[in-house]
Amino acid sequence: MRRGIWHRAANLVVICGELACGLMILAGCALAQGAKEPPYVDPGPPGGPPSDATVLLDRKDPSLDAWQPRDGWEIDGAVLRAPRDGERLVSRVAFGDVQLHVEFRALDGSATHAPVWLHGRYEVPGSGAGKVVKPGRDDTAPPADAVALFDGTTLSEWIHPDGRPAQWQLVDGVLRCRPGSGNIITKTQFGSVQLHVEFATPYMPRARGQGRGNSGVYVQGRYEIQVLDSYKNRTYFTGQCAAIYGQYPPLVNACRPPRQWQTYDILFTAPECDDRGNVRAQGRMTVFHNGVLVHDDVALRGPTGGALDHNVCQAGPLMLQDHGNLVQFRNIWLRHLDNGTVALAPRDPGQWQSYDIVFRAPRVGADGRVLKRGRITVLHNGVLIRDRVPVGPQVGERLEKSTGPVALAAGPFEYRNIWIRAIERN
Ligand code: MG
Repeated sequence: MRRGIWHRAANLVVICGELACGLMILAGCALAQGAKEPPYVDPGPPGGPPSDATVLLDRKDPSLDAWQPRDGWEIDGAVLRAPRDGERLVSRVAFGDVQLHVEFRALDGSATHAPVWLHGRYEVPGSGAGKVVKPGRDDTAPPADAVALFDGTTLSEWIHPDGRPAQWQLVDGVLRCRPGSGNIITKTQFGSVQLHVEFATPYMPRARGQGRGNSGVYVQGRYEIQVLDSYKNRTYFTGQCAAIYGQYPPLVNACRPPRQWQTYDILFTAPECDDRGNVRAQGRMTVFHNGVLVHDDVALRGPTGGALDHNVCQAGPLMLQDHGNLVQFRNIWLRHLDNGTVALAPRDPGQWQSYDIVFRAPRVGADGRVLKRGRITVLHNGVLIRDRVPVGPQVGERLEKSTGPVALAAGPFEYRNIWIRAIERN
């Protein structure tokens, strides 16, 4: 009798547990569906600044207002010139987790690049092992080690998933979806990759929601980064432009209006698998939409709807989706990330260079000890050179502050167009 009561009580606990679990999953789904609408951020011109950024050095009308006074640093026309020798220039404002864009040029051959410090102490790019890669002529052009998937001249890289030739159109150097002809995939297959894609959605004022400018960029043919005209066009947040479809809404909506060219810069880490094909670590993705960070190292929950296959431990192609709309693409390239690391991707003296940096500050507990290390991702002239590199003190060590200023190096350097934007804690 007694045992029966306990048995029933135990069952009740299990049922309650399952109910709570179900509710949690539902709540999780609601969260995944994006309870909060991603705020709109005007990405600005290529290179920014986006509308939510703090401008540290204006691209047209620079001043020293955002910086602490230092001898020798001066504005000369549209640039900030550093003193050859002297102190670093330090921002007045301190920041936590940020996306940072810096443009600089070396004035002579004595330096290939200008170091920058986050929180006044974490040097970017710092020293890193690996090769030196020649970047493209601008930050969207393919670097020397890239594989061109579409350069405006030929569809030779593309086929229908069933092996037939691709039916999409090549018009004036642009790849245009031919509605009804099906998705297209590349012959090139890849694992971990840096991927650049440009697209333009058509002007469809009468269409709504998912019906307006729909296509998709499927990484490995499995993970769709949604293409949609989400400029003043609402839909569910995990289905809007730059969402990882059905899994993650973008952090912000950085869409340009239809017919304007937009960019995706995607950093994809393939799932880690054991010899028997079991996933040991999920795939991960970081995405910039028009230069604005929209996903920061998110864990993929598996293939999205419409995936080519579910063989997540194998290489896969790039797939572009025919969703019935006249979406256009151009300038598509990738860099295999399994070929070793890159130390730097510098341009010649006198040429403008850029860093695009994602920085996560170390997490510090109430006792002043580090709970989670900081990490840093850096693109140098559009080339990934630091991929989520841990920085700062080790877990358990003491750290006074998890915010700090940005600092620029003195030396043979000029600077322009520097901006920073806070990113949500993850
Ligand atoms: Mg789509």
